[in-house]
Amino acid sequence: MKNNNIFEKIIKKTIPSDIVYQDEILTAFKDIKPIAPTHILIIPNIFISCANEINKENCYILGHMFYISTIVAKKEKIDQDGYRIIINCNKNGGQEINYLHMHLLGGKKLGKMC
Ligand code: AMP
Repeated sequence: MKNNNIFEKIIKKTIPSDIVYQDEILTAFKDIKPIAPTHILIIPNIFISCANEINKENCYILGHMFYISTIVAKKEKIDQDGYRIIINCNKNGGQEINYLHMHLLGGKKLGKMC
């Protein structure tokens, strides 16, 4: 799995990225290799390595991530036709970046899950 530095740099804006939304809790930006017409990553501003690290203290962040994903979906005009939200976890889940992230995918009819 790749290092998390890249996402930390995106949050701090020390490398270029296409941020579509940012607040004190999370950052949402366009995926560099989109697999759908709309492909946005939503990440917490504090480091959480993967879904296994969600706990009682930080789980409010996940609720906020889901809420903002719906705001971004409306902003990207994919809310009416629909979209998919995915969180990959570790090797079998296909997680490549060691930093919890939510994929927001839409803009076309998506295929089956796997
Ligand atoms: P995952 O396979 O769930 O870990 O997804 C990682 C995602 O991060 C992939 O869809 C990559 O295309 C995306 N990605 C990697 N580096 C960047 C970057 N610098 N900016 C935007 N997206 C990135």
